[in-house]
Amino acid sequence: MQNDLYLDANATSAVLPAAIAKAEQVMRELYGNPSSTHATGLKAKALLDGVRQCAARVLGAGSGRVVFTSGATESIQTAVLSALCALRERRQAGEATGTVLLYGATEHKAVPESLAHWNRVLGMGLELRALPVDANGLHRLDVLRALAPQTALLCTMAANNETGVVSDIAGVQAVLEQTASRAYWMVDSVQALGKLDLNLAATRIDYAPFSGHKLYAPKGVGLLYVRAGAPFTPLMAGGGQEQGNRAGTENMASIAALGAVLSSLEAGDTFRSHAELTLWRDRLAAALTGALPGIVFNTPFAHALPTTLNFSVPGVASKELLDLFDAAGIRVSSGSACSSAKSAPSYVLEAMGLPAWRTSAAVRMSFGPLADAAFIDAACERIARCGEALRASCMFASSDAPVENDGVIQLQHDGALTWLAIDAASRSCAVIDPQPALFDRIGAYVRCQGVQVRAIVATSADGEAACSILRTLLQVAAGDAPVALGNLTLTRVVPAGANACYLLGTSSAPADVQFAFCGAATAAQLATLVHADTILCASRDDQNRICTTLGAEAAVRPAFGAERHLDPQALEQFLAAHPDAVLIDVREPYEHAANGAPCCHGRVAESVPLSRLAGRLQRWLAGEQRPLVFFCRAGNRSARAAQCAHRLGVANAWQMTGGLALGDQVLVPLPMAA
Ligand code: PLP
Repeated sequence: MQNDLYLDANATSAVLPAAIAKAEQVMRELYGNPSSTHATGLKAKALLDGVRQCAARVLGAGSGRVVFTSGATESIQTAVLSALCALRERRQAGEATGTVLLYGATEHKAVPESLAHWNRVLGMGLELRALPVDANGLHRLDVLRALAPQTALLCTMAANNETGVVSDIAGVQAVLEQTASRAYWMVDSVQALGKLDLNLAATRIDYAPFSGHKLYAPKGVGLLYVRAGAPFTPLMAGGGQEQGNRAGTENMASIAALGAVLSSLEAGDTFRSHAELTLWRDRLAAALTGALPGIVFNTPFAHALPTTLNFSVPGVASKELLDLFDAAGIRVSSGSACSSAKSAPSYVLEAMGLPAWRTSAAVRMSFGPLADAAFIDAACERIARCGEALRASCMFASSDAPVENDGVIQLQHDGALTWLAIDAASRSCAVIDPQPALFDRIGAYVRCQGVQVRAIVATSADGEAACSILRTLLQVAAGDAPVALGNLTLTRVVPAGANACYLLGTSSAPADVQFAFCGAATAAQLATLVHADTILCASRDDQNRICTTLGAEAAVRPAFGAERHLDPQALEQFLAAHPDAVLIDVREPYEHAANGAPCCHGRVAESVPLSRLAGRLQRWLAGEQRPLVFFCRAGNRSARAAQCAHRLGVANAWQMTGGLALGDQVLVPLPMAA
């Protein structure tokens, strides 16, 4: 089995071995409560004080406070609460304070959400405003200057978690000083620890939150730096721990582990230098550039942490890249929130004014300062393999791609569907309902497979303009005449009360129609044109149904029940009990190409990518119904595939929950050919 290459360090990190050892030692030997006055407690207290002193040195906290918390989110709450309570007191004392809570437009959501929460809870009625950033992701200091007199609390992160952009903190401070601002100032420093020099007490920063798990400490432990003299209100009251700053018995094992990380930082003997990290970033960037044609990096490297790369690839959605990298064992994250049908744009990249395709196709690759040259080499080698997998799957034009089988391919953009109908023998195809966002993809596919496009058609008048552009791009003639695709014919029909539909079959007699590209036509409008199992291919799929048939629309079938979802253990038992069961891998061809066909107990999975499912369903409907177990990377696509097959009448459809991500002990990829 291939090992994981974890390149998602900005999300979280593994725990430093020395930190694990320290946590274990504390749990075994130094388990005392630091508030106890006996020797066991005093030992724990000494440890706690030691870690705090080390943290203070690493952060350059001077005479400021360093409070242990559960992580950055709690530290942020504490800072915001402290500032707002102080503002309320100043107001009550008759002082005119600023009225704006100003936060950088690219802050982690924990910041604006905390501001809104405490503003509401405390009934402050302050105005929340986002401080815009420029195209490089840097705060607009001119806007800050204009807003500084009204600002009550300012929040500007040190380095961005999505892009790695390093803020101009000195520039922000200069504006606050020049405008004689009395605003409190929080700098979320989560992504800066271990990557940027910190000398907090030498700055005007009032509050700086940190999270241990972003730098090789466990989750659930963090720090808050509070400048000497800055107002402070505890978030948690109780037994007076942390000198009354944060009640609750301390999380000693995690604090000790964080201490081990901070000691390593201080000693300077464990983590890589900025220069080394920069070298590795450049090598990863070169590997990505070689593998992914047209790649654009979304952050100018000169303004970013060397450990974060954020990029977009034209014509390839972030979800697709994530699936591909995951198949190759490279763990990265999407720079934007995405669901199966739509990918939500990244608000961080939007704030930088990047075009929509880049904000919704972004991928973040991040590594930690513990990475070594062998790790970067391995990552570069796998990135190259991902590029080959994409080329072999016709995501980019390439001459060595295998010829696609006959069938129907479904491409999707924001819920709208484009269909390709292909006949491999005659190397011909038709494009139905092309979406402009998919033109590159269609063009790459057609060129790479060397197929002749016989027709480009739309099922609505609105789609005509797109067809006409694509016809020009691919040099295809317009026309309504039936088009031959091997021994099938694509025929235009206009059902009563509907727009045009295109029927694909050995003839246009209902019994011969295999696929109907039916736009928005209803079952009733199609009733006399197709048969019960003709695959109906609509122009939109907002409910993730993939396709349907008249039979499925009319049938009353039991729901796809919980018993049809098999976790890895249930899958083992199911396969043992059903030797005839067929495993169906619905991952896309490039994912397959990146790590080979998974196999279980000598059974090699059949590849039926979700995009090709509609083309395969009829054969399952017509054939003997052996149990089909669908699986994918995480279980979402296979659930859609199995539900679609079940709805259409495949009686024996099952799906593997958690997919290969959880079941990689059960479904093991076969070794790839050299
Ligand atoms: N701030 C930044 C910049 C972050 O990256 C994160 C975590 O992703 C947080 C705050 C919140 O940290 P935690 O979830 O550890 O509380």
